[in-house]
Amino acid sequence: MTKCSVLIIEDEKNIQTFMGKMLKRHEYRVLYANTGTQGLEVIRSQCPDIILLDLGLPDMNGDDLIREVRTWSSTPIIVISARTAEREKVLALDLGADDYITKPFGTSELLARIRASLRHSNRLRTDSTLYIRPYKHKGMTLDFSKRSLKVNNEDVHLTPIEYKIVAYLAQNSGKVITYSSILSNVWGPYADGDNKILRVNMANIRRKIEDDPAQPKYIFTEVGVGYRMAEDEEK
Ligand code: CA
Repeated sequence: MTKCSVLIIEDEKNIQTFMGKMLKRHEYRVLYANTGTQGLEVIRSQCPDIILLDLGLPDMNGDDLIREVRTWSSTPIIVISARTAEREKVLALDLGADDYITKPFGTSELLARIRASLRHSNRLRTDSTLYIRPYKHKGMTLDFSKRSLKVNNEDVHLTPIEYKIVAYLAQNSGKVITYSSILSNVWGPYADGDNKILRVNMANIRRKIEDDPAQPKYIFTEVGVGYRMAEDEEK
C-alpha cells in the first residue's frame, strides 16, 4: 500500500514537529516546508496528496499561496488558523481551501479533517456524479439516488431547497462549507449574499432531523463561517 503524503507548510518548528511525528505514527508520509516559496516548490516537485497550510508565513500570505496553487492543482488544502479569525477562514475557504483547523487542536481532530478531505478528493476523482452511495451517520441515512432522507427509520419530508442544502452538506460531510458556497450551490450563482434565508432553512431542517435542535448531532454550526455535517460513517 502506498502511503498518503502530507505536506506541512508551517514556520513554527514546534507545531511542524508535533504534526509531523503524529502523522508518521498514523502511516502518512510527511513533507515539510518552512516558507510559502518552499511550499510551492514541494507541491510542484512532489505532488503531495494533501497540504496543511499555516496562513501566517514569513515570506508570503497563505491566501496568495492558495490562489496560486488553485490555478493548476486541486490537491486538498487544510488551513491551520488562529482562533477567532473567522474572516480569514472564510476567505481561505472561498479561495479554494478545503477545510480549516483552529490552533490549538488535538490529534483526532486533525486526523478526522485529513480523512474527510482525502476521501472527498478521491470521490471526485473516482465516482461519477450520477451515482454516489448513501450518506450514513448514526440514525440518519440519505439516499441520493432516491432523494430520500430517513432519521431513525422514519421518512423525513424536506422541501426541495432543504433537500439541496442537506444533500450538498452530506456530499461534503466532515468538511466545513461556507455560507456563500451553500448559497451559490443551492440558489445559483446570482443568489444574493444574504445568509438569513439560509439560517431560516437551516432552522427548519434542524427541527425535522435533530432530536434537540439546540444540541445538533448531524449538522453543526461553525460560527461566522458556515456549517459542517457529521462525517459519513463509511469504513
Ligand atoms: Ca506562522
